[in-house]
Amino acid sequence: MINYKGKVAARRLYEEFGLSSSHDFEVEDLVHARDIIYEEKALPHSDGRIVFGKSKAMISINSEIQSAGRKRFTIAHELGHYEMHRGCKLPEDTPLTLDYFKHGSQEYEANEFATELLMPEHEFRSFVQDRAFSPDLLREIAAYFNTSITSSAFRYLQIGPHPLFLFYSRNRNLVYWKNSPNYYLTVKDIIRLPVPDDSVAMEFYAHQTIYSKEESAQEIVKSTWFETRGYDDNAPFYEYAIVTKNYNTVLSVVWED
Ligand SMILES: [Zn+2]
Repeated sequence: MINYKGKVAARRLYEEFGLSSSHDFEVEDLVHARDIIYEEKALPHSDGRIVFGKSKAMISINSEIQSAGRKRFTIAHELGHYEMHRGCKLPEDTPLTLDYFKHGSQEYEANEFATELLMPEHEFRSFVQDRAFSPDLLREIAAYFNTSITSSAFRYLQIGPHPLFLFYSRNRNLVYWKNSPNYYLTVKDIIRLPVPDDSVAMEFYAHQTIYSKEESAQEIVKSTWFETRGYDDNAPFYEYAIVTKNYNTVLSVVWED
């Protein structure tokens, strides 16, 4: 069963504040409107957290976050916890809870909330329709919606028109993968094992290679990540590795033209 709680809570906020577009507000304003104490400070091991006190809640965001888009997504995620999980004891949020992989339904719901708040479905669909998929498009999405490339990639995977796979790895090992709805290819059985030797992700783990913007769509072959039968081994695919150096993680966006 699909869990729509996050999306519903975000739509409710749009209605309550009479907002019609993601460009109508700053997410900090919504935090203030809820009378939540907000602070930015150095958080050594996390991007953000929310703590519920007796009468007020406090959101802390890591002041070291460089990207404005990532900071905004993190604030929206914490606000989602406030809207849906008030009073619950929640873990600190790291890039591992701020992605879309399974970390319990509360993290999923907070990410869905942040996604719908910052990249509402109707606005997102009209922005991406008629644009070819590329790493540049993900950057344009992140700039337009003022959010992170990672969250743009997950949003695109959910509702974008071009089918994709996302492979999330940490310390060389594949943690999880996700595919666009109705796009099925057989992924190599390497969960918890090293990413493929000929993947762009491995180029980072083995040689710290990070490609420039212009070169971020690297050509690979279907058999890099997927099981293939002889005749289609060499079908060209592309991989865009989104690297988070500090956490030694790579989100590989993989697609076929
Ligand atoms: Zn969280």
